[in-house]
Amino acid sequence: MAVVNKNPQRTCVACRQTKDKKQLVRYVVAPDGMLLVDYRQRLPGRGAYTCVSSECLHDAVKKNAFQRCFKGQTCSVDSTALVQQLTMAVEQKILNLIGMSRKSGQFIAGTNAVVEALKKGSSLALIIIAKDISASLGRKIETLALKGHIYTARLYDKQMIGQMLGKEERSVMAVHVGLLADSLLNELHKYRQLVREN
Ligand SMILES: [Zn+2]
Repeated sequence: MAVVNKNPQRTCVACRQTKDKKQLVRYVVAPDGMLLVDYRQRLPGRGAYTCVSSECLHDAVKKNAFQRCFKGQTCSVDSTALVQQLTMAVEQKILNLIGMSRKSGQFIAGTNAVVEALKKGSSLALIIIAKDISASLGRKIETLALKGHIYTARLYDKQMIGQMLGKEERSVMAVHVGLLADSLLNELHKYRQLVREN
């Protein structure tokens, strides 16, 4: 019997891989003919899809894949601007999810609180460590996280993390295991992929 996949599938216009729609980026053409990233996949009209990858995006532009997909509509495409739009959309989604996990009390901010939670063996899903944290402190947290099999990402700087939390500089934040953390991990993987390639 054929396996019925309940998630709608779409194909990347660059590498032709078929994946869950939610794992791809959607693009639409605005009324003025500009190609836009529709990260929330909610804009009306025909859509085209690529992997969450600047490589596939550049490739799609190079192969004129968007023009083929949206034939009949004037479509101006700038791959650098699109990668930028996409990175900003992922960043925004990460910020929203962090905001939601704060509100739902699944969130720990600050080095001491996170280290304490790690030592207690709290069920953390992920830890975000500022890129400009002191080397020894960064290593200490990563070592503790590794022992507990907790995902860590070096992201943003202390000032940016502080700003997100409406506070002074903060070097570390963590999110407890749960659905929000799962979504956040998903976005962090996308973000890493985009940033690594740039
Ligand atoms: Zn692709």
